[in-house]
Amino acid sequence: MLRSIVRYLQRNRPRLVEAVATPLRRALGESVALAESEALLHALRQAFRTGRSDGFLDELKQASARWSARGVDQVECIEAMLELVRGTPSGTSGVDVTAISSVLDAIPGPVAHLDTRGRVVVANRAFTRVTGEYDQALPGTPIQDLLTPESNEVVSAILAPEVVAKGMLPLGHVRLSCDPESEWLAVAIPFAITGRAEGSLLALSNDLSALGTEASIASLLAREKRQSEKFAALLTVSHAVANSLELDTILMTIAKLVRQVIQTDECTVFLFDEKEQLLRPVVCDAQSFVSEMMAVRLKLGEGITGMVAQTGRGEIVHDAEADPRAVTVPGTPAEQTALLCVPLLSRDQVMGVITLTRIGDRSFHDEDLELATLFAGQCASAIANARLFEDMKTAYDQLNSTQSQLVQSAKLNALGEMAGGVAHDFNNILAAILGRTQLLASQLADPDVRRQLAVIEQAAIDGAQTVRRVQEFTRVRADERFKTLDLNQVLLDVIELTRPAWEASAKRRGIVIDVHLELTASRLIAGNDSELREVFTNLMLNAVDAMPRGGDLWVASENGSEVVRVQVRDSGSGMDPETRSRIFDPFFTTKDVKGTGLGLSVAYGIVSRHRGHIGVESELGVGTVFTLDFPIGEVDQEFGPPEQVGPIPSQRVLVVDDEPSVLHVLVDLLTAMGHEVTPALGGPAGLEALSRQSFDVVFSDLGMPEVNGWDLAASCKRMHPRCAVVLVTGWGFQLEEDAAVSRGIDRVLPKPFSWEDVEGALRQVTSGTPGMRAA
Ligand code: ADP
Ligand code: MG
Repeated sequence: MLRSIVRYLQRNRPRLVEAVATPLRRALGESVALAESEALLHALRQAFRTGRSDGFLDELKQASARWSARGVDQVECIEAMLELVRGTPSGTSGVDVTAISSVLDAIPGPVAHLDTRGRVVVANRAFTRVTGEYDQALPGTPIQDLLTPESNEVVSAILAPEVVAKGMLPLGHVRLSCDPESEWLAVAIPFAITGRAEGSLLALSNDLSALGTEASIASLLAREKRQSEKFAALLTVSHAVANSLELDTILMTIAKLVRQVIQTDECTVFLFDEKEQLLRPVVCDAQSFVSEMMAVRLKLGEGITGMVAQTGRGEIVHDAEADPRAVTVPGTPAEQTALLCVPLLSRDQVMGVITLTRIGDRSFHDEDLELATLFAGQCASAIANARLFEDMKTAYDQLNSTQSQLVQSAKLNALGEMAGGVAHDFNNILAAILGRTQLLASQLADPDVRRQLAVIEQAAIDGAQTVRRVQEFTRVRADERFKTLDLNQVLLDVIELTRPAWEASAKRRGIVIDVHLELTASRLIAGNDSELREVFTNLMLNAVDAMPRGGDLWVASENGSEVVRVQVRDSGSGMDPETRSRIFDPFFTTKDVKGTGLGLSVAYGIVSRHRGHIGVESELGVGTVFTLDFPIGEVDQEFGPPEQVGPIPSQRVLVVDDEPSVLHVLVDLLTAMGHEVTPALGGPAGLEALSRQSFDVVFSDLGMPEVNGWDLAASCKRMHPRCAVVLVTGWGFQLEEDAAVSRGIDRVLPKPFSWEDVEGALRQVTSGTPGMRAA
């Protein structure tokens, strides 16, 4: 044995040196790698020659230590060692020797694959055993070296290319040089992979009784031929399975192709679900009762399939009906079936089971079990690889989506900051326009002028609305003014609100939009209903816009784990990937004049503030679905003071603002409401007024140079603790309300304000209702 290894190392030296050197080249360079490899092989030969079996391991250890010290990394070291075992330089093409040898090993009798010149390419274990050779020593050995001189002629005759090519299955008697006493029957079978001749398979048989008659020779030959065909089919199948990384493809291929190898009526592949500790079918290739089969769930040890998963050993059951371990599949008829189950094993772990079924009285044979086991081995590693690949893909997708969310929120923040400044100035301007218009309207009786003023007023309100939406971007913190909400109610409100768009207006345009509701959610969330109405209204209107020729609109809600999920789906135009990637950008619209491009960016801000998530899937020409998840939750106390009506008694009011137009409009509004108003242009003038006399209420602008709103409020509270302070701000909701309360502010009034807003603020601070509310 040791001698044959030495011979093998000797004979294959150049090939092995090349193979081992290949992985080392990168780190060591060409010549050093070759020298190192040569040295290793030399040392190995010595180790075997002297018969020190531990010398072999020592040499390997020393070599790997030496290479590591020279900068070869772990993987390259291992690869070089592996190449030594494989014995083929990496990158050489041709027959996949490992695949063939594992297939040949499944054949019980001695078989060797010989190349066209009669040299052993690879042999199975039985062949190695009978020839008494070390299996790595066989490749490259001429078959003649293994036979007695008399046998050589016989073999040369049966291996003659013209005989083999004709597929004549020649045979003859041979004796092995290691054991000249025994006589073997040698058969040569032409061997071809994908149509290309690759020499022949030489099978030895000592069943000489079979040679008794011509008929039995024929049947023996026929059996050998069948075997070889099966193995060829198995090789093809193994290649097909190993060539894919998609789990579904692999599983389908297994189920379909296994029939080429083993005649069977049904094939079901079960995979083991680690989490549920269950075997569940993933593919079933059968004529009937597929859905019944797919519904089966088996615990480890349950049924024959479950037993095989538990023991990790394949099994044939000739009559499954009669086997006490068998479980019946509900909904299928009782009929005689034979089962063949083999485990899918990867690194000693059972990943699943392939279960083959023959209906009727044809059973399986040991030979089938061997084939199936071999096949399952190939499948298991393919499945393991596919799973790794899938995990990697999921991780990659998650990373990708996290990244795009980060980019999106960073983009919104930057834009929000910029927009915030512009919004502040606009609010001042709009405050002046709105206040003045409402004042004028209250003073003039001419209906025509009042009508025109109403138009201006509406325009200012619309403008304020747009500015408010722009400001929404920066509102990232969760709003405290949440209440417990039933999203279904919000959705029903929105359906009603948008009804004109999808019903009346659609009808006018001669199209039909069918709205389908599937509101099954029962959990509640914490949220702001008017904001959420705005989100869903926009989604509905966008969907309507996307269906200019009509279509279907689905609105669905359901309980998810920890979330309530809402989906708005349309059968409209859909979006290309480019558009889809930009829809949450502020001002991105494809609607020319009609769109503002703010709808979805505001929706994004609102959903984020609800600690929720909004996602979209869309396909051009098919439709779009928006999916929103809101964490379930409830709010303890409900906000909102009771409505109060009736006139407000006249108050002494100080108004402080450094912007004359805002100052005067507020003064005029309050005066018109019947209050006694003192104007102060700027902070210092405000402080002076406060030191001169006392007031019931102070309306102060926030952002003023010299003395700002905070300072003024603090001084006011110090001088007149009972005086209420209303902070008027163009920064809208950005104001930290907690901070405002702690600094003595009773109320925040965002600009621009309407008559009602000012009245409401005044009513609240004078009636002493506690709590902060933005009007
Ligand atoms: P606007 O509606 O004012 O254009 P949005 O922010 O609401 O602004 O939408 C931005 C863009 O996203 C739209 O212009 C449109 O191109 C695209 N979009 C949004 N919803 C849909 C949908 N359901 N189907 C197709 N495209 C859509
Ligand atoms: Mg929109």
